[in-house]
Amino acid sequence: MWKTFFEELGAEVVVSPPTTQVMVSEGSSRVVADTCLPVKVFLGHVLSLVDKCDYIFIPAVRSVKSKIYNCSKFLGLPDMTKAVIPESPPILDIEIDVNKGKRHLYQAIYKLGRHFTWNPFKVRQASLAAWQAHLKYRQLMSSQGLTPPQAIAKMTGEVELKAPTSTQATIALIGHPYILYDEHISHRLIHRLEQADNKVLTPEMLTTEELESATTRLVGKAHWTYEDEVVGAGVHYLETRVDGVIGLMTFGCGPDSQMMDMVHRRAAKLRATTFMSLTLEEHTTEGGVVTRLEAFLDMINRRKRRQIEVCV
Ligand code: SF4
Repeated sequence: MWKTFFEELGAEVVVSPPTTQVMVSEGSSRVVADTCLPVKVFLGHVLSLVDKCDYIFIPAVRSVKSKIYNCSKFLGLPDMTKAVIPESPPILDIEIDVNKGKRHLYQAIYKLGRHFTWNPFKVRQASLAAWQAHLKYRQLMSSQGLTPPQAIAKMTGEVELKAPTSTQATIALIGHPYILYDEHISHRLIHRLEQADNKVLTPEMLTTEELESATTRLVGKAHWTYEDEVVGAGVHYLETRVDGVIGLMTFGCGPDSQMMDMVHRRAAKLRATTFMSLTLEEHTTEGGVVTRLEAFLDMINRRKRRQIEVCV
């Protein structure tokens, strides 16, 4: 969405490369140790762009749904970056808070667009094109069962997608997109599951209605922006009886520790689906993740074999 917005305004968009250990270490060196891992990773990405662009775009996303808010670290990202990376190019920071009304949002978008053009009509055109790109991206994921990287690749025509081949088991992954799809942080969990012939489902493959209704069934009204993709997706996949659900969270995340615990309790109550939660941090080793994953898949296979024996 944002790439479309800036390109429509005539800017060249540069994105940071995939996460590496160097980026994690450099990001970590700028903040106190108990900062959550994704913020450290984020700062590493900013550092990787310092000498590659004229501006860095860091929105302060406070709220995208009425009375549902992002975590404080999220909305403080532009200020935090200014404080800990003084060598950063000028930051384009826009506050997104739908609770302040449409007028506030439109003004913020025009203010952002003014860095590139004084023509409000052009900013409006760019916003509409960006919104269309966003709708297409969401629709690709929920209707075709694509992950965000696959949907982006399809929209930009980068790679030809393979049809999912599934035989062993259907495993749902729940958690924030910046953890699930970061191959370095997640230790290529999706790839490992698919290589072992499992079908992988993620929160973005569900519709907004499915996510919201599942969240409501467990906690009532959501308060956190990401409640749907952790609680909503977790409950939905547990109730639809996939073979296993893996909850991925990172060290230092307050909201996740509560939300994942609620999903865990739900799984224990339903007793129909194997559930595992994995907490990742910067020192998590690949060996540790692989061992947990193998044990989890073994458990699912044993359970499936037992079910077949009972049927026979
Ligand atoms: S939701 Fe959790 S992981 Fe994400 S920025 Fe906030 S504390 Fe960090």
